[in-house]
Amino acid sequence: MSLLDLSPAAIERREKRFLVGNYNRTPFHPRWGKGAKLYDAKGRTYWDLLAGIAVNALGHQHPKIVRVLRKEAESLLHVSNLYFHPAQGLLAEKLVKASGLARVFFCNSGTEANEAALKFARLKNPGRPEVAALLESFHGRTLGALSLTGHAAYRKPFGPLVPKVKFVPPNDITALRKVVSKKTAAIFLEPILGEGGIIPLSRPYLQAARRLADASGALLVFDEIQCGLGRMGRLFAFQKFGVRPDIVTLAKPLGGGLPLGAVLLGPTLNGTVKPGHHGTTFGGNPLACWLGLTVLEEIQRKRLLPRIQKLGQWLKQELAQLKKRCPAIVEVRGAGLMWGIELNREATPVAQALLAKGFVVGTARERVIRLLPPYVVPQKALRDFIQTLEKILKEEK
Ligand SMILES: *Cc1c(COP(=O)(O)O)cnc(C)c1O
Repeated sequence: MSLLDLSPAAIERREKRFLVGNYNRTPFHPRWGKGAKLYDAKGRTYWDLLAGIAVNALGHQHPKIVRVLRKEAESLLHVSNLYFHPAQGLLAEKLVKASGLARVFFCNSGTEANEAALKFARLKNPGRPEVAALLESFHGRTLGALSLTGHAAYRKPFGPLVPKVKFVPPNDITALRKVVSKKTAAIFLEPILGEGGIIPLSRPYLQAARRLADASGALLVFDEIQCGLGRMGRLFAFQKFGVRPDIVTLAKPLGGGLPLGAVLLGPTLNGTVKPGHHGTTFGGNPLACWLGLTVLEEIQRKRLLPRIQKLGQWLKQELAQLKKRCPAIVEVRGAGLMWGIELNREATPVAQALLAKGFVVGTARERVIRLLPPYVVPQKALRDFIQTLEKILKEEK
């Protein structure tokens, strides 16, 4: 017997004793995965409809990802940004060609991507102290990104934050027009708000934001960290809406499960960011970038985008039908493989009941069940989920 007690109970006790305590973890112990399936410490099987919060787009243990990890383990894991390595340039080239934007900066996470975007916006628009952002938005937890996050409870204990962020309600064009001016450096938007409860922005709203940015000289920044890189059935969410931003931030699925973030800059920012303005030790490390290339190649090779579009259309209909059958469902929102099911009650107990029946789902705010499955999720998993959710909502009352 091992001296180390790795039983679920011991793991929980150890964490409770030694970790800071900033997470309210669900007592779930996944240990192994394959595709859209997860297996816990007791060997029970689950459909993974959350993908580690939109990260594992290709599912678990994808053979290509495993191959790249094995191969790169025998070359270099890290070189720093002092020197050259082929991976960053190759991934940047792919992102530029697919997006039509011009240049890329790599970092390690979503919040870092938004920090960098905010700094780049200030470089491009000096003397413009203001930023427009949305109520209910989420852009990350570091102080700059937190300053742009439109959920007061997250910000409150940490002031003073970056000043002069003007929050407006999503999809309210008049409200946005009132806050965007020659003093605005940037408008930060999630095309579909994720943490805020899966709130899609309308095409007219995004178009209006583009026009306001053009008229005022503010930069239009799309945070596609959760909704981007295929989840909408297009590689970039902005392509679905036909509105081109000046800056796009990416992270979650980009590194194929390893930490990797990116800021894509449009041609208007060419030459804005100079040596010394920004940097990171780990950002764009070779291994994460190789995995990023693998993710993009697999999305293309396996034609995952049309698959996501089709599944999204189907889910839209199925969830609309489910809503008709279940008075507990207030609203269903989303597109592609990003859906929120808003309930007339707290979502956490429902998510726990789903977990007990073998479905890993997320929640957002108090009352929204959040689905962010891997792009390879079988249709059957989603169909079974809908049946199970219906049973739970009808039994619960
Ligand atoms: C998750 C998320 C972030 C923050 O990403 P981290 O990698 O957790 O720092 C920022 N914006 C959006 C839209 C996100 O979903």
